[in-house]
Amino acid sequence: MSVREHDLGEIRDAVAKLCSAFPMDYWRETDRERRYPTEFVRALTEAGWLSCLIPEEYGGAGLKLAAAAAILEEIQKSGANGAACHAQMYTMGTVLRHCSEAQKRKYLPKIAKGELRLQAFGVTEPSAGTDTSSIRTAAVRKGDRYVVNGQKVWTSRAEHSDIMLLLARTTPREAVQKKTEGLSVFIVEMKAALGRGLTIRPIRTMINHATTEIFIDKLEVPAENLVGEEGKGFRYILDGMNAERILIGAECIGDARWFLARATAYANERKVFGRPIGQNQGVQFPIARAYMATEAAALMVERAAALYDQGLPCGPESNMAKQLAAEASWQAGDMCLQTHGGFGFAEEYDVERKFRETRLYQVAPISTNLVLCYLAEHVLGLPRSY
Ligand SMILES: Cc1cc2nc3c(=O)[nH]c(=O)nc-3n(C[C@H](O)[C@H](O)[C@H](O)COP(=O)(O)OP(=O)(O)OC[C@H]3O[C@@H](n4cnc5c(N)ncnc54)[C@H](O)[C@@H]3O)c2cc1C
Repeated sequence: MSVREHDLGEIRDAVAKLCSAFPMDYWRETDRERRYPTEFVRALTEAGWLSCLIPEEYGGAGLKLAAAAAILEEIQKSGANGAACHAQMYTMGTVLRHCSEAQKRKYLPKIAKGELRLQAFGVTEPSAGTDTSSIRTAAVRKGDRYVVNGQKVWTSRAEHSDIMLLLARTTPREAVQKKTEGLSVFIVEMKAALGRGLTIRPIRTMINHATTEIFIDKLEVPAENLVGEEGKGFRYILDGMNAERILIGAECIGDARWFLARATAYANERKVFGRPIGQNQGVQFPIARAYMATEAAALMVERAAALYDQGLPCGPESNMAKQLAAEASWQAGDMCLQTHGGFGFAEEYDVERKFRETRLYQVAPISTNLVLCYLAEHVLGLPRSY
């Protein structure tokens, strides 16, 4: 299906309608209780939105990334939190390009039907942090399987996922010429692995993100679950990262639009000194500035998605899209909170929740500095700083 403008309009309307069944008190309650929004994720799955990137031959809708971006933007714009399930879309960047035909036939139809969830992505480790090539989780081949040992942190949705894409070192760092070599990606069937080498421990955070740390102790993974070629996993993960950045950028645009709508409505309604606060330029201008930043960032997200969908290089655009959108949503969030005065802090206005949630995207999935490092080095030709 080609993603023409009116198709995107239809998609946006349908997603907005679905989201309207999950009002703000649903999100307030799940946030307060740090509960996974199971009902919301089920509704999105049943409607087929979470498998939109899976090609039709495997039971998905076979939509383009631009459509997935529109879906996530719409979710965020409604005030919901798509972080509960967005990984099922962004892991497709790696899965569709690098999984074997047999792996795709085995997993994708079940994911498309909602029988399996692919929501976990195990890359970050406590000691390596942003320096992914320093990860210590190691997979050693023993006959027809790999034996994996190590630890991951911030593995989000691990308790709510059936499958995880796991990055592990298969050749020691000392034995490879480039430190990004010797890393491999595996498909881990989590339910079977639980208690047999895989332990998941939730991390409570300032947002409701179902994130965890996982401990891997002599976990056996069938060799057939290796994605692509052994040792080339870093590139496979990087391939997925452009999709991830574009989709996160779209979510930030959705957040920003939610903040703008809320701030504008409140500035029109709230009367102080006998007139709407929005009549004061001191209140109007930050809203107008946040609007400009959002529109500019949205263009970059659109451009990056268009390049991605045409199969063209889009590293700079994807990084810029994610960063500009994360900055725009944070600017809009700060503005929205300020516009609401003291009520911005009250749970029932939802601003404080969205404010906390959107802040994440300047740290994860990649932090601001690292986007700037990428642009400085790879686009502008400045010396590598680390
Ligand atoms: C809620 C949440 C969910 C997450 N979900 C997942 C997930 O599902 N899967 C997964 O694999 N990971 C996940 N992450 C991890 C996330 O991708 C990392 O937190 C992020 O990449 C930053 O790594 P770090 O926390 O180790 O920070 P560090 O690498 O320790 O960096 C700390 C600070 O130092 C800065 N810094 C580090 N090196 C440099 C440098 N060379 N130059 C300039 N500045 C530098 C960073 O920008 C950052 O501000 C999640 C994180 C959070 C908080």
